[in-house]
Amino acid sequence: MKIQTGYNGLETSNSFILEKNDFQKMLDALKERNYTLVAPTLRDGAIIYDEIDSAEELPEGWTDVQEAGSYRIEPRKDKALFGYVVGPHSWKKFLHPPNVRLWRAERNEENSFEIKNENEELPKYAFIGVRSCELHAIATQDKVFIGGQYTDSVYQTRREQIFTIAVNCGQAGGTCFCVSMETGPKATFGYDIVLTEIIEDGRHYFVAQAGTEKGENVLDQITNRKANDEETQTAEKIVAETAKNMGRKMDTEDIKELLYRNLENPRWDDVAERCLTCANCTMVCPTCFCTTFEDTTDLSGENAERWRRWDSCFTLDFSYIHGGSVRTSAKSRYRQWMTHKLASWIDQFETSGCVGCGRCLTWCPVGIDITEEVQAIRESETDNIEEGGKK
Ligand code: SF4
Ligand code: SF4
Repeated sequence: MKIQTGYNGLETSNSFILEKNDFQKMLDALKERNYTLVAPTLRDGAIIYDEIDSAEELPEGWTDVQEAGSYRIEPRKDKALFGYVVGPHSWKKFLHPPNVRLWRAERNEENSFEIKNENEELPKYAFIGVRSCELHAIATQDKVFIGGQYTDSVYQTRREQIFTIAVNCGQAGGTCFCVSMETGPKATFGYDIVLTEIIEDGRHYFVAQAGTEKGENVLDQITNRKANDEETQTAEKIVAETAKNMGRKMDTEDIKELLYRNLENPRWDDVAERCLTCANCTMVCPTCFCTTFEDTTDLSGENAERWRRWDSCFTLDFSYIHGGSVRTSAKSRYRQWMTHKLASWIDQFETSGCVGCGRCLTWCPVGIDITEEVQAIRESETDNIEEGGKK
C-alpha cells in the first residue's frame, strides 16, 4: 500500500486561504465524494471523535484542560473550531475497531457448519482534524498491521480509503510531549490537506495546503485565494509557539538501552504501588494494538461467531499460556507496557511506540505519568553513579 506523503513546509505558493465561513464547503466537497465525515465533537463532557454531518457539530468555542489524571472542557474566549488538543478517542477506533466479527457460521441442511464470510460494505471515512502526533500514530500502526510479513485486512481495507484533513496544533495540552518524540506539533506527512487555524484582528480563517492530488482536487473546488507571506508566516508562528509550550517533556536519549539496563530497577515496585492495572492507558493509546479472540455460539446451536476485540497487556488473562499467566504482578505488567512502548517497539518496528500524545497520563485514574517514570529511572542511575563516586 502506498502511504501518503505531504509537503514539508507551508510555502506561500501552495498555501491557500479558507475562510471560516467557508469551512462547511470543504465538508460538502467531501460528502459529494461519498466520504463519511468523522471529526471531533462534544459528548458527555469530553471532545471525542464521531461521525458528523456539518461543521456545526465541531466543538466550536471549546477547549480542554488536561493534567495527569484529569481532563475537563471549558469555553474559550473565541470561536475556534480546533482550539483543544486530543481527547480520549483516537482514530484507531475507526481503522482498528475495538470489536470486529471476523466470521460467522450457520448450521446447514447437512447438519454441518457453513462459514459465512463478512462482506460488509465499509464507509469511506474522511478524518477531520487529525493532529501531527496522530498522523505519526497512524504511520506506526501502518508498520504493525500492513508493513510486515503479514497484512491485517481489517485495517488495510479501512486505511486505504481514508481522506485525512490534518490540523496543525495552535496550543499544547498540559500532558503533550510531541516535541520530545519528534512527532509534532506541525503535520509534515500523511495528510491530504493540512490546516492552520488563525483568529486575529477580527478575522477567522485557515491557511490550507494540499499534501496529495486528492487534497488538491478538494482545495481547488473550494478556494482560489492564495495565502500571502504574512498569512503563512502567522501560521508558522502559531505552530512554533505551540512547540515552545509543551506541558511535558521526555529525555529520549539512549532510551532503549536505559530501559533494557533497568529491568530490575526499584522504581517498578514504586509504580506498581500506584498502578490499578485498569488498562485505561492502553485503551486510549493511539498505537497500542493488542487483541484477543472470542468464539461464541447461540443457545439454539445453529450459529457460531468469531470476534476480535481490543485487549491489554495490563490484564491477567493477556499473558495466560498453558498453566497460568506469565505476568501476574502489576510491576511486571507496567514494566512490560512501558518497556515495549519505549524500547522493544524500536527493535520490533524501528520506531518508538509512543508519539507523545499524553493520553495515557490524562486518562490514568491515578495520574501515572510515563515521562515522570522515565525520568525517575534515569535519575536513579545518576544517583547510583554519584553514590558510587562518593565511596
Ligand atoms: S498506568 Fe494508570 S491507566 Fe495504566 S493500567 Fe495503571 S492505573 Fe490504569
Ligand atoms: S504511550 Fe501515552 S503518550 Fe505515548 S502514544 Fe501512547 S497514550 Fe500517547
